[in-house]
Amino acid sequence: MPRPIHATVHTASLTHNLQRMRMTAGDAKVWAVVKANAYGHGVERVFDGLRGADGFALLDLNEAQRLRDLGWRGPILLLEGAFEPRDLELCSRLDLWHVVHGDEQIDWLSAHKTQVPHRVFLKVNSGMNRLGFAPHRVRSAWTRLNALPQVDEISLMTHFSEAEQAAGITPQEAVFVSATADLPGERSLSNSAALLSLQAQPNALKNDWVRAGIALYGSSPDHPVHSSADWGLLPSMTLATQLVAVQDLRAGDRVGYGGAFTAPSAMRIGIAACGYADGYPRHAPTGTPVLVQGVRTRLLGRVSMDMVAVDLTPLEAQGLANGSGFGFGSEVTMWGVATNGVALPIDEVAQAAGTVGYELMCAVAPRVPFSLSK
Ligand SMILES: *Cc1c(COP(=O)(O)O)cnc(C)c1O
Repeated sequence: MPRPIHATVHTASLTHNLQRMRMTAGDAKVWAVVKANAYGHGVERVFDGLRGADGFALLDLNEAQRLRDLGWRGPILLLEGAFEPRDLELCSRLDLWHVVHGDEQIDWLSAHKTQVPHRVFLKVNSGMNRLGFAPHRVRSAWTRLNALPQVDEISLMTHFSEAEQAAGITPQEAVFVSATADLPGERSLSNSAALLSLQAQPNALKNDWVRAGIALYGSSPDHPVHSSADWGLLPSMTLATQLVAVQDLRAGDRVGYGGAFTAPSAMRIGIAACGYADGYPRHAPTGTPVLVQGVRTRLLGRVSMDMVAVDLTPLEAQGLANGSGFGFGSEVTMWGVATNGVALPIDEVAQAAGTVGYELMCAVAPRVPFSLSK
C-alpha cells in the first residue's frame, strides 16, 4: 500500500471562488491566474473548475502550451512576457498575449517575424519596483510599440504591492492613471487583494481585466484581518493523510527530533504520515492546527521528513476514544476539508508556520498523489 498521504482538488470550490471574484469585478473580464502550475494544484486539475474565466494568466510557456493542449482557445496572457526572443515564436504559434515590461522585449518584437501581430500588455511600474516602465517612460514605450507592425492592440497594466487595504492602492493607482492618461487601450490593475478590499465599489478602479489568483484557491490575501470564510471563499485543496501510529506518553516524555515537545502529563499522541518531504512546512511549531477525524487539534514537536506528531487529547475529550474510535488509520487533515465537513483553512496553518497560504499550496511535493473531487 502506498503511504496514505493524498491531496484533493475541489472543482466545485474553484468554480464557486471564480464566481465570487466575478461578483467583485464589476464590469471587468476576469483572468484566472494559474501560474506556478495553478498555485500548486496542477493546471490540468483546475481547468474544469476555472474554464468559466475569460482568460488564463501565467508565466511559463510550458503551462500555456498545456492549456492549449486542453483545448482552451480563449485568451492566455504571459504575465512576465518573453524571457528571450525565441519565446515570441511560441506566442505567434499559440496566439499568446504577452506583457512588455522592458526595452529588451520591444527590441525582440521589432526583430520578430510574424504573420499575426501580437496583443501586448504594456506594464507600468507604479511603485512596486519589480517590473515595468517607470511612469515618465511609459509614453515613449507605448509610441515605440504602436509603430511596430508586429504589434496589434496595446493594453496597459500595473501591479499593486499593498492592495490589502484601499489606502495602499490609492498612490499606485494615481501613478498609473497619470502615466497612462489619454493613452488608448484596455486596462488591468487588480489582483485578488485589490478586488476584495474594494469589493463594495466594484468599479472603483478602471479595470477592463482583473487578475484573480489566490482567492480562486480559497485563501484570503489579507489573513488574519479577514479569513477566507469572511470573504466567502472555499478551500480548493485538501491535504490529508492518516495516523500510522499511536503513542501513550507519561509526564516528562519527549516527542520527535530534539525532543522539542515534552508531555506535561500522561497523554496520547498520534503519528501522521506527512512531513516536510511532502511540502508541509518544517517550521510549523507545536500548536499548529490540524484535524484528526475532523476534530481540531494541534501539532506536537518538530516536523520530520515523513511524519508529524499530533495531540489526541481533544478527541479523547470528545469521547471519540470509545464508540467511533480513533487510532491507526484515522483521517488526518493537514489543511482543507475533513470527511465530516469541518474545514481547516490553509491560511491558519501558514500563519502558524510564519508564511502565507500561497507558499504552502505551491510547495506540495511531487510525491504526493492528487485527485479531483466535485
Ligand atoms: C500572481 C499575480 C497576480 C495574482 O495575484 P494574487 O495575489 O494571487 O491574486 C496578478 N497579477 C500579477 C502580475 C501576478 O504576478
